[in-house]
Amino acid sequence: MTTSPYAPVHVLGEVLTNRKVGAYRHLTLVAPGIPDRFRPGNFVALSTGADRLARRPMWIHRVKPTGGYGATVELVVEPVGPGTTWLAALPAGARVEVTGPLGRPFALPKEPVSCVLVGEGYAAAPMFPLAERLRERDCAVTLVVAAPDEAHLLSALEARRSARAVTVVTGDGSIGSRGSVADVLPDVLAKAGAEVVYAAGPLATLHAVAAAAEQAGAWSQVAVEQPMACGTGLCQGCAVPVVGEDGVARMVRACVDGPVIRGDRVRWDDLAAEVPIG
Ligand SMILES: Cc1cc2nc3c(=O)[nH]c(=O)nc-3n(C[C@H](O)[C@H](O)[C@H](O)COP(=O)(O)OP(=O)(O)OC[C@H]3O[C@@H](n4cnc5c(N)ncnc54)[C@H](O)[C@@H]3O)c2cc1C
Repeated sequence: MTTSPYAPVHVLGEVLTNRKVGAYRHLTLVAPGIPDRFRPGNFVALSTGADRLARRPMWIHRVKPTGGYGATVELVVEPVGPGTTWLAALPAGARVEVTGPLGRPFALPKEPVSCVLVGEGYAAAPMFPLAERLRERDCAVTLVVAAPDEAHLLSALEARRSARAVTVVTGDGSIGSRGSVADVLPDVLAKAGAEVVYAAGPLATLHAVAAAAEQAGAWSQVAVEQPMACGTGLCQGCAVPVVGEDGVARMVRACVDGPVIRGDRVRWDDLAAEVPIG
């Protein structure tokens, strides 16, 4: 039996740094085996102390070689509840159990095509390594970074280095244009002559991206965030309603069949009815 070079590992990671950046904490972890298996769109599942059984999923933002420690993974944590608040408070040197990389990553085009990448809030995290991979393939990369306000906008400066064109949009207009992804996307897709659209963010944004891409005649791949308990396919807790390639409606698991799913396959209305979040 051969093991996939991408098969996830379960390791005891160590926090190397924990920096506050706007509304987020950027955690750099030494987590041996995870960086070399990483592909953009993968996530990790972290235990958050003995009181909480379910692991918390987090996008991998960056993998970096760091002198003396081997490669590290960087996560962007928004403290919203007990688990993320626990993670956000971890000091340098703390140990944390990490499993990853998990999930199906974004599929990369074989040809150098025009790609538009949309990331909202912390979920813009996987878009930066994805932009790098696409540029290595000579794809033209346009980025849309969005957030409710400036504090929740991820790495706007870095976005300008990662892409040919960048559109920044915030709900309150504190930076970039005021509005939502849905307001700016049709124009961005037309200007870029987009053939593929990648997105990560709240459900409503992913739905809007899938609709705009279809309208523009582009393929879309969306990274769906379903609350999940195990992250490995066992608990079946993160079901996403889709239409299969055979035209038959079925459920897939966000953690192993996704989280990246073709936007035109998701049954958005059923998904919104099922998960009253975002
Ligand atoms: C694949 C994936 C990748 C993720 N990546 C990141 C990341 O990079 N950074 C980050 O900060 N968070 C990320 N999340 C969301 C994060 O996992 C949840 O916010 C976290 O599990 C909440 O745990 P908690 O104990 O802090 O709060 P809880 O008490 O469990 O939840 C707090 C509130 O957040 C809501 N919530 C929980 N999970 C989600 C979700 N997936 N989407 C929307 N609302 C949710 C709950 O309904 C509740 O209202 C990701 C989720 C998924 C599925």
